[in-house]
Amino acid sequence: MSDEKRKILVATTNPGKIAELRAMLSGDLQWLSLADFRDIPEIVEDGATFAENARKKALGYAGITGVWTIADDSGLVVDALDGAPGVKSARFSGDKQDDADSPKDSSGRTLIDHLNIVKVLELLKGVPQEQRTTRFVCRLCLASPEDVLLETGGTLEGLIIDKKIGDQGFGYDPIFFVPNLKKTVAQLTREEKNAISHRGNAIRKLKPLLDELLLDS
Ligand code: IMP
Repeated sequence: MSDEKRKILVATTNPGKIAELRAMLSGDLQWLSLADFRDIPEIVEDGATFAENARKKALGYAGITGVWTIADDSGLVVDALDGAPGVKSARFSGDKQDDADSPKDSSGRTLIDHLNIVKVLELLKGVPQEQRTTRFVCRLCLASPEDVLLETGGTLEGLIIDKKIGDQGFGYDPIFFVPNLKKTVAQLTREEKNAISHRGNAIRKLKPLLDELLLDS
């Protein structure tokens, strides 16, 4: 192996995601984000599965930049809704982009998160508690410009409750109840969430595989 640090691009501009991957994957790596490249075209997440989207982004950005790239895709799967919102989790209530320009509520949360929750609760009206099983799913992919190098996944199982509880986190956290903690994800600290979350679990599985790959490369 050469002395130069292996560069890894995290295919996001979200500083939270970059920090999480850096902290959990540590090692002698030089981390880059999409913000380190100029005029990079957006790769559209239009796959039918989380795995397909993660693979498409990882291979796409690695191809454009020439740098090994980690991409993720995640979302909420509700059994009573045949797996919806699924890959459409970010924009379940409409086409508005969940970005800095989205309208915010009084606590600074994007309105799109609230509207997505309202839609899920509406669709689940009258569905009894025992049939409100759900999971957060995350798929991660590391690719070189030529090939998929590693793929992992993680889940977090729970129940959709019928109103919002808690003000931490984002997205569907306030209606996602974790039975063995007797709390919603929005009632957990960031550390408590990372310890059990779909993303945390996928990153923890990636770590030993990445360490092995780096030793061989
Ligand atoms: P992405 O993988 O960042 O594109 O996430 C897609 C969407 O899934 C988000 O906009 C959220 O609506 C939902 N989602 C993903 N992970 C979480 C989570 O940890 N909590 C709540 N919602 C999530």
